[in-house]
Amino acid sequence: MSLGTGAKARFESIRDLQSRTSRKIDPPRDEDGKRLPVSEFFGVNTFDISLMKEKLPKEVFQKLRQTIDLGKKLDSDVANTVANAAKEWALAKGCTHFCHWFQPQTGSTAEKHDAFLTFDDHGQPVEKFSGAQLIQSEPDASSFPSGGMRTTFEARGYTAWDPSSPMFIMESVGAKTLCIPSVFISYHGDALDEKTGLLRSMEAVSKIACELLSLTGLTGVNRVVPTLGAEQEYFLIDRSFYALRPDLIMTGRTLLGGQPPKGQQLEDHYFGAIPTRALAFMSEVDHELFKLGVPSKTRHNEVAPNQFEIAPIFEEANVSTDHNQLTMEVLRKVAQRHGFAVLLHEKPFAGVNGSGKHNNWSLAVTASGEDLNGMNLLDPGKTPHQNLRFLLVLSSILKGVYKHSGLLRAAIASSGNDHRLGANEAPPAIMSVFLGSMLNQILNEIDKGTVADKSAEQAVIKLGVSQIPEVAKDNTDRNRTSPFAFTGNKFEFRAVGSSASTAFPITVLNAAVAEGMTEVVAMLKETIKAGKKNEEAIMDVVKKVVRETEKVRFEGNGYSEDWVKEAARRGLPNLRKTPEALAMLSEPKATELFSKFGIFSSAEVHSRLHVRLERYVKNLQIEVETLRSMIDTQVLPTCYAYSGDLAMSVRANADAGVPAPQKETLVKLNTLIATLHAKRKELETVHQKAESTAGEEEKAKLYAGDVSTAMTDVRAVCDELESMVGDDYWPLPKYREMLFFA
Ligand code: ADP
Ligand code: MG
Repeated sequence: MSLGTGAKARFESIRDLQSRTSRKIDPPRDEDGKRLPVSEFFGVNTFDISLMKEKLPKEVFQKLRQTIDLGKKLDSDVANTVANAAKEWALAKGCTHFCHWFQPQTGSTAEKHDAFLTFDDHGQPVEKFSGAQLIQSEPDASSFPSGGMRTTFEARGYTAWDPSSPMFIMESVGAKTLCIPSVFISYHGDALDEKTGLLRSMEAVSKIACELLSLTGLTGVNRVVPTLGAEQEYFLIDRSFYALRPDLIMTGRTLLGGQPPKGQQLEDHYFGAIPTRALAFMSEVDHELFKLGVPSKTRHNEVAPNQFEIAPIFEEANVSTDHNQLTMEVLRKVAQRHGFAVLLHEKPFAGVNGSGKHNNWSLAVTASGEDLNGMNLLDPGKTPHQNLRFLLVLSSILKGVYKHSGLLRAAIASSGNDHRLGANEAPPAIMSVFLGSMLNQILNEIDKGTVADKSAEQAVIKLGVSQIPEVAKDNTDRNRTSPFAFTGNKFEFRAVGSSASTAFPITVLNAAVAEGMTEVVAMLKETIKAGKKNEEAIMDVVKKVVRETEKVRFEGNGYSEDWVKEAARRGLPNLRKTPEALAMLSEPKATELFSKFGIFSSAEVHSRLHVRLERYVKNLQIEVETLRSMIDTQVLPTCYAYSGDLAMSVRANADAGVPAPQKETLVKLNTLIATLHAKRKELETVHQKAESTAGEEEKAKLYAGDVSTAMTDVRAVCDELESMVGDDYWPLPKYREMLFFA
């Protein structure tokens, strides 16, 4: 009798795992062979500001600096000189090609490589890179999603260097490419990418924040810049397991798989010793990132088995967004070298913690004055005056987030994040703000007027705002169940998905805050006009806003059912799934907001909605197709084989005249197989219905509803079968194998 060989490849993977070794990096060394400190090679592969200063004539550098600092247009003379210097540098480093590196609305990055090689007038080969090639390039953009903004007959858009993000060299096996971080725009100037909106939203915040600051008496501010530090969570699994899971390869998550007997309930993984092979991987990731000038700072285990986190030092939001994309790329590439697959999906394993990307966000001042430059507007500061300013900024944020909580939910909507949000392990789909007990108490006192008898200055002293950062460092005052939490001197937008680009969530946040600030500025001006002294006026406005935005503040447990009810009572939107969330983008409120601040035209907003809906539907289509093929070509054949062998053994027992207790298993198995057939048909039916439904929105709703439910039902049967089919029949690596490689 031929017993199950279906598990052969799986068993080989498990065996191979025993002989895996950790890959060692070869770090840069000095002449004596001593390992160089990171500071000696940080950013060697970037054409950054200090290198430009060194390589460029003084006046060219100054003009470029102005372009960067003040967002001015780069003129072509400057561009030519910069291009030439960049070319010389890149050639000396061994580059043969350059590319405009940009972020279409796919959530990842795109690049089209061109050789520096060209021929001069005498037909001789030379390397050339002009200013025009630096500032502008014309990719054939027809295959990037534009959400209907660009019809194919005018398929071309162009990419243009974003000088605020330094050029860098991407190294790959045998290839070095000069990458030019770019925006991607249609010929009519429509934003086709994720970066353009982000840059525009940063301008919008800066403009109104400068006005707000000047009203508080602060002068000498050039710009106010949103800052971002994105904590990136991910899973690592052995590549040989990955190769045996069609679902991971096609969809990034497991569509089947029974729960392991040990999950994360022992809580022994979080902050535990990093497994050697994973640490070797992380070291190489850091090494690559350092060369690219990405300030990677922390690395550690996360809550779930085989889950990890990497976090950088924060930077200006646009640079940080680029750097997060690079981080994800480097994670993927380096994982391969180490025999790992990195899973960036929000929920690769059902029943196990998902992955997020905590977007730490704040506002920083840029100024010529050293004492002012870099000042964090969410730092409560030391003097009553600074504290008043802090409260004013905070009020603006509360206002923005309250008014646009639905839009913020839309900004993080994706098929992957739907599995994570509200799954009792990640922030709920309800947007609320957590401030921490101390700040919350302060706002309550302001609201109740407990301090109203004092002058504004005395009141702030009494409130003790300046102690907030100290208190917030205390981890007991952290709320991990909040989607948007204040952590002492920054907000943490925690609901962002692990695979998402940070660009759109931060664009929406910036936009919401710009609006909140605009309203606060108007209120302040009016109060001052009515005769109040500056500081009293600020206190007045803060008080009003605190009352007005009370509903969006929530200090309790965001995972609880009570909160869902309470939020409904407060009228806060609870948009559980992507299609509902994305619908927020089609509300007039959204278009008004974006167009008011010059961030997106109504066509551009529509395009974002459309692209996202389309991606949602496509992702689900791929999931259903993958699930179907796994059932038909792996799960069912495995079950038939096991069933056949069982039946033969029952027959053999009968022939031998002994009882056949395995018959019970056989009967149960066949009952389950029949159930699987039935559920598989139900899935097919709802899938067909979704497919034949016209209109992307309606289609998306069906996928989010009936189709998703049918997928879960089918899965439940498969997982039960997994738990009873002989282990040496089962072809798919199991959770217990993928999640516990160490
Ligand atoms: P924790 O891990 O306790 O939340 P950290 O200080 O480690 O706090 O910060 C986490 C992330 O927040 C890091 O990426 C860090 O650089 C970033 N961060 C800190 N300050 C700011 C700020 N002012 N603006 C944006 N991000 C910040
Ligand atoms: Mg954090």
